[in-house]
Amino acid sequence: MPATPRQLIAGNWKMNGLRRSLAELNAVAAGYDAKLRRACDFVICPPTTLVYLAASAALGTGIGIGAQDCHIEASGAFTGEISAEMLADCGATCVIVGHSERRSYFAETDGDVKTKAQAALRAGLVPIICIGETNSDRESGRTLAVLKRQLLGSVPVSESGALVIAYEPVWAIGTGEVASPEDAQEVCGAIRGRLSAIPGDGEAAGVRILYGGSVKADNIASIMTQPDIDGALVGGASLDAGEFARICRYRELAVGA
Ligand code: PEP
Repeated sequence: MPATPRQLIAGNWKMNGLRRSLAELNAVAAGYDAKLRRACDFVICPPTTLVYLAASAALGTGIGIGAQDCHIEASGAFTGEISAEMLADCGATCVIVGHSERRSYFAETDGDVKTKAQAALRAGLVPIICIGETNSDRESGRTLAVLKRQLLGSVPVSESGALVIAYEPVWAIGTGEVASPEDAQEVCGAIRGRLSAIPGDGEAAGVRILYGGSVKADNIASIMTQPDIDGALVGGASLDAGEFARICRYRELAVGA
């Protein structure tokens, strides 16, 4: 019987944050005590300009630092781009690929996302591969078909199981509209089932599946208790140190409520 994956809560700062914002990292680190470390992994994905500083500040805290995108090549004449190897060299341990904002504003395709995920693996980073349906997909009953296409197109074959899939319904990102725990579970359960059908990936049960889309301190507990949801990718709420700390400590706050 495969082990249940460790939970993971990741914060995506998007294009927000200056050096002074690293104070938030200190606030989260201060609350990441031994009990919490045993229960869950935490990652913060600041903008690329802060990855090195954040990784240095996070040393010894147990908090991982990730990036939000990478180029497919390790180096070369790609002005303005940043490779997965460069991110790893700065201390990143993971990288988000295929976020819906990149898919829509930068026209990234499933093929692009898969190549970026492969680049991440090549550099020793864990790719956090985002997939999710739009509102029109949802309204036309195409959610599972769209996700199947995205999974097959965006997820590289990996023997390592060192992949994270973030299910982020596009209609829930930054809207305040969160998927119901039951709907999120149904979709994440289907994703886990589909993962085991990807050739070569015998590690489906070890792949962590996150939910993302308007996660806040007051809704995370009901999401995290779903059997096929191994964590959360948090956007807007991760920019507020107090809110993100409450999200990270959701277990004890739920007990104390
Ligand atoms: C995200 O950007 O990945 C995200 C989930 O955003 P938010 O939490 O703000 O909906």
